[in-house]
Amino acid sequence: MMLNFSNSVGDPMVEIGRLGLIQFCGKDRFDSFEELKQFIEKLFNIYVFKTSGRIGQIFSSNSKFTSQSLVRPFPTDKKKKEARLKFSLELYSNLVKESYSGYCLSCGKKDDLCSVSKTIFPLTTGNSNTNFTSNFSNRFFMCKTCMTSLFFAPTNMQKVAGRMGFLISNNKEINEFWSENNIKEFNANIVKNMDSLVDSKINIFENFIYSIIEELQEEELFGDITFYLISNIDIDSNIEMVHILEKNMRFIHRVAPNFFKTKLTTTVKDEWNNLIYRYSSKDKKGKFRTRNESIKVLDTKLNIMVDHKTKKEKIKFEEDVIEKNNYKSIVKYFNPLISNFIQNRSLLGIFKRSHISWHLTEIYLKRIVEMREERLVALKKVADNLQGLNKNDDKEFIRKVVFPIERTKSQSELRTKLREFMRKLLVISDKPLFTAEEMVLQILPNGESWHETKDILLIALYEKLTFDEEIEEEFNKLIPNEGDDNE
Ligand SMILES: [Zn+2]
Repeated sequence: MMLNFSNSVGDPMVEIGRLGLIQFCGKDRFDSFEELKQFIEKLFNIYVFKTSGRIGQIFSSNSKFTSQSLVRPFPTDKKKKEARLKFSLELYSNLVKESYSGYCLSCGKKDDLCSVSKTIFPLTTGNSNTNFTSNFSNRFFMCKTCMTSLFFAPTNMQKVAGRMGFLISNNKEINEFWSENNIKEFNANIVKNMDSLVDSKINIFENFIYSIIEELQEEELFGDITFYLISNIDIDSNIEMVHILEKNMRFIHRVAPNFFKTKLTTTVKDEWNNLIYRYSSKDKKGKFRTRNESIKVLDTKLNIMVDHKTKKEKIKFEEDVIEKNNYKSIVKYFNPLISNFIQNRSLLGIFKRSHISWHLTEIYLKRIVEMREERLVALKKVADNLQGLNKNDDKEFIRKVVFPIERTKSQSELRTKLREFMRKLLVISDKPLFTAEEMVLQILPNGESWHETKDILLIALYEKLTFDEEIEEEFNKLIPNEGDDNE
């Protein structure tokens, strides 16, 4: 009987297992279960011998594989492990022998199914665990390839934020890149006698996603990706999902082709990365950020290093990143810019507060916001025309023109303000600030965000102005760091 793992399936857990299996075995087709058996043995051997007590745990404590009653009669640890391995392989062989009729819950294949319960699979616990598609009841029918795939799921995931993260893309090469790296690390961990799950060492889901995008775009790999974050405990077992679109990856490729590896780049050459650095390093009060990391302790029973149950140490950004020139660790710190970017929230507020260049803003508006070209041109023109009111005195101009725009609180207030400046400008120049048509179609068009218009105008204005300390202080009072920190 031929076993074919080359077709994608709709269920993310089965799919990530299928992709892991292909990497782990180095092939996607097998002539028989006999041929597949050597890989199953290797895999189960890892699971049975290398499980730790907590997050890296592949099988839950109420899984049939880890059940204490099973191994209690055996006198030594070695014998207990042997018994566990023998039992798990028998369990698998028995599943393979079953032949129920019906449809596979995961891929829809007809007949020759096995009847399985959730708790035999890795990374699941009780009945309320939602790691599988919601319609997976406790007992269900599955085809044998999907059932086998599920056993490989842990090889293709990473420990993130105390849970398990993985990705699935519409670009096959991205999936391959992900599984290749995971299996490499997974195998290396076995040699080092460590937790079997690959550890991303990142405790913030958004930052984890950002660092993956960074890696992928360096490899020139682009596509739409769904990132999943799951847990193998019943409590808080909801699945978190984030969709990243190809345009987001291409944006990063355009503005930040090289992440900080060994040193910081200059603002002129690399505005985006400097902004990332700025928001990772300090909080809104201007203080260096800190993070908590689990302390590793030796589990004497299993003779491996595991995370301490409760103790954590506080790590400071200056010591961790700056003094050690360890710029890759930047993504371990909370960053509102990364968080907003990954969650697809507007970055204009951050851009404005940070006096970002029009160049970067324009790339962002075109690629991410997908703003109409005519609107972009019209808004820039208004900002440039407003400079006509600047009598070579930035300070006065900021106070009399820029800050009043900043203070507007509604679309009608903003429109009134702009009309007021239009009248003032007509006194000294015959060039109108904007035409009536531009106002209606481009500047404040119906159905588009007036706040966006305001931010864009201000970004363009701020770029050309020099701030002294006094103005900077007034600016900070006017624009609170809303939505900056929510660690
Ligand atoms: Zn199936």
